Amino acid sequence: MALATETKFTLKDYKAADPRWCTGCGDYGILVALRRFMADKQLNPASVVNISGIGCSGRIPHYMNTYGIHSIHGRAIPVAMGISLARPDLQLFIESGDGDALSIGGNHLIHGINKNFNCVFVMMDNQIYGLTKNQTSPTTRQGLATNTQPQGSWLKPINPVQFAMGLGASFVASTAEWLTSHIVEVIEAAYAHKGFSFVHVAQRCPKFNPTAWEAKESNWYSFLQHEKGVKADTKYGPDAAIIEHDPSDLGQAFKYAMMDHKHFGVYYQDTSKACYDDIVRSATDKAVKQPRSGLLDRFKI
Ligand code: SF4
Repeated sequence: MALATETKFTLKDYKAADPRWCTGCGDYGILVALRRFMADKQLNPASVVNISGIGCSGRIPHYMNTYGIHSIHGRAIPVAMGISLARPDLQLFIESGDGDALSIGGNHLIHGINKNFNCVFVMMDNQIYGLTKNQTSPTTRQGLATNTQPQGSWLKPINPVQFAMGLGASFVASTAEWLTSHIVEVIEAAYAHKGFSFVHVAQRCPKFNPTAWEAKESNWYSFLQHEKGVKADTKYGPDAAIIEHDPSDLGQAFKYAMMDHKHFGVYYQDTSKACYDDIVRSATDKAVKQPRSGLLDRFKI
């Protein structure tokens, strides 16, 4: 990772309140990675906004010494979109959980991806509703007993990576909370991408879903590496294979996403997709420059 030449901000400049997640929660790794990325990149905390919905993931803005909005259930995306239209100079990071992103906020996620406004969307996937204590979420694996489906979760889970690619997301990546250096690399690639960068993060919830993301075998995940994506390194996972994958190859990206074997890295990137915030700003500029209409003149508005 290329560090800024002059170090003005250090890790402590991004720290706010002490986290209050359960012991061993994977959210800690994501928080640390976000702070590390921002310090590496020397992002001015006063120009960063973290926006969340509800859930354990929703606490991130409280723990970052940046601007932040802990919004309401599933509504982080429209809040962020409003900011992106009004203040394109700010750097937007959205943190959302599997329930918040794919269930409560599913409609907003569809349109956030489609509108491709500029932000980094971090989906923290612990495959359960943790804050409300153990309900089936859209990514809960089939058969897992929860408070809402004690006989075992009925449905096959939604695959977030397939979901995002199927909607035409311009950037889709996946990483894991225990691979801190890898998350930082992936967030850096997502941040460099102009548009809606969808970053799926596998996250453990030892309190309510301790068997999620549990290794059923050694070598249960591989890294996707490419000069256009992120580098992979055996230090991230000594047993993990490294596969060359060109992120412009959507067909191959789907094949990797559909396998039971997990893949971490950049699946897909399309740098040609237009951004809604740019389109709106351009249309507004044109409208302002147009001659006043007769109606406006007549009423002297
Ligand atoms: Fe983390 Fe799960 Fe505890 Fe929430 S309930 S803080 S996700 S361990």
